[in-house]
Amino acid sequence: MLGLMQSQQLLISTLIDFAERHHGEGEVVSRRVEGDIHRTNYREVAARSRKVANALDGLNLAFSDRVATLAWNGYRHLELYFGVSGSGRVLHTLNPRLHPDQIVWIANHAEDQVLCFDMSFLPIVQAVHSRCTTIKHFIALCDADKLPADTGIPGLQSYEAWIAPQPATYTWPEFDENSASSMCYTSGTTGNPKAALYSHRSTLLHAMSGALPDALNMSARDAVLPVVPMFHVNAWGLPYSAAMTGAKLVFPGPAMDGKSIFELIESEKVSFAAGVPTVWQMMLGHMQACNLRFSTLKRTVIGGSACPPAMITAFNDVYGVEVLHAWGMTEMSPLGTVCTLKNKHLSMEPGDKMKVRLKQGRGIYGVDMKIVDGEGAELPWDGKAYGDLLVKGPWVISEYFKGEGGSPLVDGWFPTGDVATIDADGFMQITDRSKDVIKSGGEWISSIDVENIAMAHPSVAMAACIGMKHPKWDERPVIAVVKKPGCEVTRDELIHFYEGKTAKWQVPDDVIFVESIPLGGTGKMQKTKLRDLLKDYKLPNT
Ligand code: ADP
Repeated sequence: MLGLMQSQQLLISTLIDFAERHHGEGEVVSRRVEGDIHRTNYREVAARSRKVANALDGLNLAFSDRVATLAWNGYRHLELYFGVSGSGRVLHTLNPRLHPDQIVWIANHAEDQVLCFDMSFLPIVQAVHSRCTTIKHFIALCDADKLPADTGIPGLQSYEAWIAPQPATYTWPEFDENSASSMCYTSGTTGNPKAALYSHRSTLLHAMSGALPDALNMSARDAVLPVVPMFHVNAWGLPYSAAMTGAKLVFPGPAMDGKSIFELIESEKVSFAAGVPTVWQMMLGHMQACNLRFSTLKRTVIGGSACPPAMITAFNDVYGVEVLHAWGMTEMSPLGTVCTLKNKHLSMEPGDKMKVRLKQGRGIYGVDMKIVDGEGAELPWDGKAYGDLLVKGPWVISEYFKGEGGSPLVDGWFPTGDVATIDADGFMQITDRSKDVIKSGGEWISSIDVENIAMAHPSVAMAACIGMKHPKWDERPVIAVVKKPGCEVTRDELIHFYEGKTAKWQVPDDVIFVESIPLGGTGKMQKTKLRDLLKDYKLPNT
């Protein structure tokens, strides 16, 4: 017997319809490439998304054709999120931080038909357009009068001129909720990048679960600042969750420096912000230097790489902002876990509470997890046993676009490439990426633990731990350190700093001071590059 409820498809167009009808005045504020602050609301975003849909129809794009973006977080990008997917096309967010050759490879692989780009990326588009063999239409996300006369890009038109003549009425098509809605390529540290292809259904379920109180706790009373880019994994689904809840959206545009982000948080009364640790590092540095305080920020979700304890302490104890440590991947849309405490944790001593907060958190509804040993046998949830982390759920990848790399699943589970523990309360803690784990004398050392201790030193801005070949122990940890501007610390002082904080054999054998640590397109430390840079390094006494 089937249920007797209406079977409305879960489509992205329903989000913007809802936001328009129930939160039409809900604000969308963007710092623009032009440098000014632009203000609009869900009603206008909805109307302009429908203009985008009409404009795309005018280009004779077929259902599921790919429309690429090369854009910062902003209202025009948001309109494309809804206009492209809502009209049945697939939004392909390109990462402008990638090498131009990679952008060409990815655009051709995705068979993009249209490219909409922010003017800050004009030089990239000028360099790559002739090699992007499938792109027929180039749209610059600006006013007509901001378009230079001779860009060399054939048929280039401005977004505003493109949508201006279009009607603001449009009937969103109804189609199977399993249809593709957007795609994102993983950074592909090895081999060619591979794309996760999200569906309308996966996107809506992810947005709904992500907004729950024990996940990101989003509501119409929030002003949300996604510093996480809309060009990588849909800014963790925040634009969709915001439309679903009516939260105010605040977009930073290209200005990601500490000062600009802090000013935006204050001027727009942001209550909730999302970013990777490197972004917050810059902002906290600025606040410290200028002795600043937040007046409205209540919580911040930090993920993408491990959040150092010093950052949790700074937000929590110094600035009174709750940190939600979160974990996920491109292949998971991306949210998998969020570290929100349970009742039993609230009365804990601060030190014990901190130990819980450092974990990547518990699975949000929809994501199932398990850890397995080398033979694939499931390990206990005791907070001690660690093994390969596998996940499954309706917003976890089943295969990559065009079947690249074959089936990624093992018995229906997706292997994340992370190594983790899970405790009896279901809190997962990443000890490492499997390829970064340091194997020393038959034991594993978590590079994240070693980094976290260094990051707690007041003179350390950034630290990356890697394993170096050792004749006796197989590998030994060394730590590459970037000092904070104007701060000093010696190798011996830093080694001494580890005393009493970890087992002796987990203390790094050496400290290498570096100017900077290579960061990838999504702000993560690129340990492969660091290993290349240090390939001639030799451990002391070997
Ligand atoms: P890419 O590295 O290709 O950009 P993702 O952005 O999807 O891929 O990154 C996913 C990986 O990032 C995870 O598998 C994990 O190793 C790491 N990661 C994400 N969040 C965290 C976190 N909170 N703590 C530690 N590692 C994290």
